[in-house]
Order: sequence, then structure tokens, then C-alpha cells
Amino acid sequence: MNTGFTADTRIPLGTSGLGVAPLGWGMWRFAGAERAVARARVDAALEAGCTLFDTADIYGFGSESGFGGAEALLGEVLREDPSLRARMVIATKAGITPPVPYNSTTAYLVAACEASLRRLGIEQIDLFQIHRPDFLAHPGEVAAAFDRLRASGKIRAAGVSNYSATQIESLCAHLPFELATIQPEFSPLAIEPLTDGIFDVALRRGIAVLAWSPLGQGRLGDAAGASADGRARAIAVALDSIAARAGVDRPAVAYAWIMAHPTRAIPLIGSQNPARIRDSSRAYRVEMTREEWYQVLVASRGERMP
Ligand code: NAP
Repeated sequence: MNTGFTADTRIPLGTSGLGVAPLGWGMWRFAGAERAVARARVDAALEAGCTLFDTADIYGFGSESGFGGAEALLGEVLREDPSLRARMVIATKAGITPPVPYNSTTAYLVAACEASLRRLGIEQIDLFQIHRPDFLAHPGEVAAAFDRLRASGKIRAAGVSNYSATQIESLCAHLPFELATIQPEFSPLAIEPLTDGIFDVALRRGIAVLAWSPLGQGRLGDAAGASADGRARAIAVALDSIAARAGVDRPAVAYAWIMAHPTRAIPLIGSQNPARIRDSSRAYRVEMTREEWYQVLVASRGERMP
């Protein structure tokens, strides 16, 4: 089984007209760096062939840079070299509002998007996502925000993160255009989207999938697996046997395992280490058999397939 993907492959983000490379880069851990360090990371992601850059207004909250810190840092990098903008599909998220904790009312989302545009210093956000569902917001309110922002040109496409399959359907019933993306946690450690309806709704509607924490927040990245629990160690063993045969490291196999699903899920690389970011492109070299893919799943489940 080989995805056949290269860094030149473009995966459509729904019907938005946007297409991105099969590996994206995430900026959850980006805030607080010096501008030169930030630029080196962005360059490494571009060298790895990433075209989707995923951030959020909340990234930076709880650190010295504060709410908006990651967006503001990316904005600095873009202001220093505006030519970078044309090489990126910029995705951000809104809706987490500490300590409330969530707000997806129309007025809040419109204001949050405008604030993100100012921090990033760009004219349009390519992909604007709701970070987490707000149980107090009617899906019609979320749809109205997306519709208003798209009609005014402030966003190109809309997506959601951490929504259930039925929450996605409810939102889509109110939205006059199709969602471009959904963003669940998905990795060999987080396999729920395979069975909880998330991937089914993506396949039915043609919505692209962005997979957050592809290494389980680093638990699958640790070389020795020493910090991992028993389940993570079992998964690491299954990944390592493929890695040894393919001549790559474990993260490359974890990314390839994610990419092999028919949704063509896009791993959001979380590393902030330029060498590791560059190495992520080794995922394109990985071929695995159907049996090997299922062996990783069995290791994650802790029991055989029925
Ligand atoms: P991850 O890839 O699962 O974990 C990255 C972490 O693993 C980094 O701290 C990295 O450290 C560490 N790591 C250890 N060994 C590594 C190795 N060999 N190769 C690569 N990394 C290794 O991803 P994540 O940072 O948790 O999340 C990725 C992205 O998903 C985020 O940036 C964000 O865009 C998105 N996300 C979204 C949500 C949501 O609710 N929508 C939630 C979480 C994340 P170094 O930096 O030192 O390499």
C-alpha cells in the first residue's frame, strides 16, 4: 500500500478551490520564539513541501506572548518577507475564549476573525476554523458568521475542529456552502475518527481532514519510547518494524499511516525543530502493506480485529 503522494500532490479542501500538500505544519508550539528562529521553522516547513500552515488565536495563551501570540509571530515573519504569503495556505481558528471557555456567536466570531487578520497582517484568511464546539451557539449562528466573513472576502473557506459527526451535519444544514475541512485528533494513538462517524461524514461530503497531534503530542516521537505507556510502546513497536524495513524513522511511518486512510487525512506536523520538520517529508517514501497498517491498528486497540 502506497499513497502515491509526493510534496507536489494537492489535496482539495472541499469545494473551496484550495488545494494543499499532503503534509501540513502546525503552530501550537510556535509562540514565544525569536523572529529568526520562527523564520527558520517556516522555511523548514516550506522545504518539507508543506503548504498548509495551521495556527489559532489561542496559541500563545498561557505563555508570555499571550492570546494571539502565535498569529502575531507569523505576522512578523510575513511582514519581514511578504513573498512567503503566496506559498502558504493560512489556516487559523477561533472560538476558545478563556476563561468562558467557548464562544461561537456570530458577533464574536466576526470580531475574532478581524482580530486574527490584524495580527497576521494579511487581507484574507484562507481557512477559518471553529476551534471547539460551543454548546450555547445555535449552528445557524456559526453558519451566519462563516457566510458573512466569506461574503466580505475576509475568509476564503471554513472548517471546524473537534466537532462530532452529528454536530458537523447540523452545521452543514444551515450553511449555504460546503465546509472545507474538519480537524479531529487522529494518529495511531487516537483512532476514534475511524469509527465515530467523523471520517464517514468527511467521505460522504468530500470534506478534507486535518489530523491534529499526529504523534500523540510527541508520545510516538520519543526514540526509545521510554516515556510512553504500554499501549504507546506496543504501537511504537508496530511502527518501528515498518520503519526499519522502509529505512525511515518512526514519525515518518506514523504520518504515512495517517495519510493512508481514504479520507487522505493531512497530518499537522507539530515539531518546532527545523531538522525534524524537514525529515517529515520522508513520509512520502513509506510503503506499507495492508497487513502492516492493520497491525498498527491492532496494537492501538490492544486486541485483534473481530
Ligand atoms: P505532534 O506531532 O503529535 O507532537 C509534536 C511534539 O512532539 C513536539 O513537541 C515535538 O518536539 C515532539 N517530538 C518528539 N520527538 C519527535 C520526533 N522524533 N519528531 C517530531 N516531533 C517530535 O503534534 P502537536 O504539536 O501535538 O500538534 C500538531 C498540530 O496539531 C498543532 O501545531 C496544531 O496545529 C494542531 N492541533 C490542533 C488541536 C485542535 O484542538 N484543533 C489540538 C492540538 C494540536 P520538537 O518540537 O522538539 O520536535
